[in-house]
Amino acid sequence: MSTLIVVGAQWGDEGKGKIVHLLGKKADVIVRYQGGNNAGHTVVFDGKKFVLHQIPSGILQPGRRCVIANGVVMDPWALREEVRFLESQKIKVKGRLFISAWAHLILPYHRYLDALRESGKGKIGTTKRGIGPAYSDKVGRVGIRLADYMDPAAFKELVEQNLQAKSPLLTSLVSLDDLRKETFKDYDDLRAFFAEYIAETPTLLADALAKKKNLLFEGAQGTMLDVDFGTYPFVTSSNPIAGAACVGSGVGPAAIDEVLGVVKAYTTRVGDGPFPTELKDAFGDQLRERGQEFGATTGRPRRCGWFDAVVVRHAVRINGLTRLALTKLDVLEGVDPIRVCVAYKVDGKIVKEFPASRRAQATAEPVYKNLPGFSEPVKGITEYKKLPKAAQAYVAFLAKEVGVPMALISMGRSRDETILVDKKFRWIP
Ligand code: GDP
Repeated sequence: MSTLIVVGAQWGDEGKGKIVHLLGKKADVIVRYQGGNNAGHTVVFDGKKFVLHQIPSGILQPGRRCVIANGVVMDPWALREEVRFLESQKIKVKGRLFISAWAHLILPYHRYLDALRESGKGKIGTTKRGIGPAYSDKVGRVGIRLADYMDPAAFKELVEQNLQAKSPLLTSLVSLDDLRKETFKDYDDLRAFFAEYIAETPTLLADALAKKKNLLFEGAQGTMLDVDFGTYPFVTSSNPIAGAACVGSGVGPAAIDEVLGVVKAYTTRVGDGPFPTELKDAFGDQLRERGQEFGATTGRPRRCGWFDAVVVRHAVRINGLTRLALTKLDVLEGVDPIRVCVAYKVDGKIVKEFPASRRAQATAEPVYKNLPGFSEPVKGITEYKKLPKAAQAYVAFLAKEVGVPMALISMGRSRDETILVDKKFRWIP
């Protein structure tokens, strides 16, 4: 038996989908523990492209069980759509997907509240899908969980309480009557849909552990978007970090064996907020094109920059990373020199750790080390020793700089475009 948490060690979009899809071969159960349908994993499988928002990418792995755990917030309509899409692609979902009765819902009023916030001065660049307001309601103890959605009397009462309490904000955008209609749209159908998937997921996971099954926890977004340890307030409204896998699924911390951090060979971020190594020049645009850095969920162009070892060291510590998976090394082909940020200069002083203050995060100047680039193609190489020497040196430098060994190197979208570096890593297929 083994348990593994896979987390993003930068600002998300590191390519976790592909890595989970690869390692998921060894998993019996794949668990999504936080976030909503703002996250998007792109997985290329059998020549087809799948974009998953709420369902763990493990669903593409025949026979595996997938759990949407309590830490996730779900949009009922979007989730049904995602299931329908997978079924239309001949992926069997029924009997394999289990949705936590304890998970909170995103309802139409959350989307209006999100849009309202994003139209004002406090704008942080969300996807406006209502995820932040749904998490606020959860913590504010007025959220609605799936178990209560399934109970018509309870649901009606909770919706009414919410509409009344939120009406001063909402009625500038929409009438309460229209919102009621939106909220109850397809309600009977949706309840029938959820009836097939709702589960006591903490019990299901405890049973799987008791039976010595392999559990893989799939994080969404990344460490720098963590509401506690990211670039607050330009963060997501949940905790993508490894510790949250326990809270977000109801599995105790002593059950966790390994934490794998996924890092891109450079850095990207979507939305607003600090990004010390951002390249605002033509080379940044080139990286975006070469790496196809456009959001899986929204199509938004991602901001691009050099690898930031300060950020990844922060991620190593916060998540307790035991191993790394490096992705998109192929995108750096022909880039010379390749730069890596090893420290920041803040107020004239050199700092090696990611600072907490907003001002320091926004004004940090990267201190770079230049490394020789490689021009030989790396795509198709499956042995570390066959990588160009400069590519090997780059990978070795990153691992040393952040202090965690590299288990996998990805150089393309499909599963076979990967070097399995650490054969002792028991999750390697
Ligand atoms: P995630 O949310 O962390 O899974 O990341 P996304 O799915 O948003 O973005 C990763 C994108 O990069 C997807 O389109 C992947 O198919 C693609 N990808 C993953 N690994 C590699 C790689 O090693 N090389 C290239 N060129 N693309 C990759």
